[in-house]
Amino acid sequence: MQPVLSLNGITKSYGQIQALKGVSYEVPEASVFGILGPNGSGKTTMLSIILDILKPDAGSFAWFGQPGSPDTRKQIGSLLETPNFYHYLSAVDNLNITQAISGRGDAAEIDRVLEIVKLTERKRSRFSAYSLGMKQRLAIAAALLGDPQVLVFDEPTNGLDPVGIAEIRELIKELARRGKTIIMASHLLDEVEKVCTHVAIMKRGTLLTAGQVDEVLANEDIVEVSSNDPHALLALLSSFPGYTHIKQDGKLIQLFFPVGTARLEEVNRFCFEKGIILNLLLVKKKSLETKFFELTND
Ligand code: ATP
Repeated sequence: MQPVLSLNGITKSYGQIQALKGVSYEVPEASVFGILGPNGSGKTTMLSIILDILKPDAGSFAWFGQPGSPDTRKQIGSLLETPNFYHYLSAVDNLNITQAISGRGDAAEIDRVLEIVKLTERKRSRFSAYSLGMKQRLAIAAALLGDPQVLVFDEPTNGLDPVGIAEIRELIKELARRGKTIIMASHLLDEVEKVCTHVAIMKRGTLLTAGQVDEVLANEDIVEVSSNDPHALLALLSSFPGYTHIKQDGKLIQLFFPVGTARLEEVNRFCFEKGIILNLLLVKKKSLETKFFELTND
């Protein structure tokens, strides 16, 4: 299937600072694609390039297999920073202005997008009376005008409280259910793991990995064990065959195996036969957080 977006060797410098160093990946249709990376890794620069706000020094990108054109641009709604809504105007009046400027959609659209972001009941309230979460949902409503196929968000939950974050998370999931492709930069690993189907992990302008979240995470089995005597257990497990590395974290010992090769019964029998009784034995899925720090730590 034709990717929604393909990036090919995108490079960008600001004077001496190389913000992007030959980044290539593809965003599949109907994915929720998270761009993750520590501060300064080039996420915002990348989003600015794909939205034609910045020009790359080298490399190219294509939306729907085409180089950028006003027609393809109409298929993309974006939210890079909170738009300047008028504080004394209502949501409806603000969206009327946004619509007049952007030329996207018609008047009926405004009720439709307010419904999606669940602001219908408050659509006549002044913007200044909105909570931060409501302001952000209104900004997303503005991005939805004209019913674009693709939505590009930079840190959509930035500055929100846990309730606001959960609301945006639900909204993104709802947009995904409606078949939209969503590309979002974030530094909230937990958020990305909860909402994204795909992820690209960046560090200092370089792409470290990209793909389906499950695939990015599922390259190892982690077996967690513990016993009353962690030192003896660690010493014993050091001679267990087949693991790639072993880690001790307090009383917990983690054995890392190539994916699909961990055998809990064998670990259990091995320990038991050597006189150690385990009080915990389980296979753990790697969290995106673990993977992220593994990849981005020097
Ligand atoms: P953050 O999570 O902090 O927003 P980011 O991953 O979005 O970071 P960018 O904002 O794209 O990263 O920045 C990438 C690099 O380029 C950083 O070193 C940053 O300091 C630098 N940079 C970004 N914009 C400019 C600019 N206008 N002029 C000079 N340097 C810039």
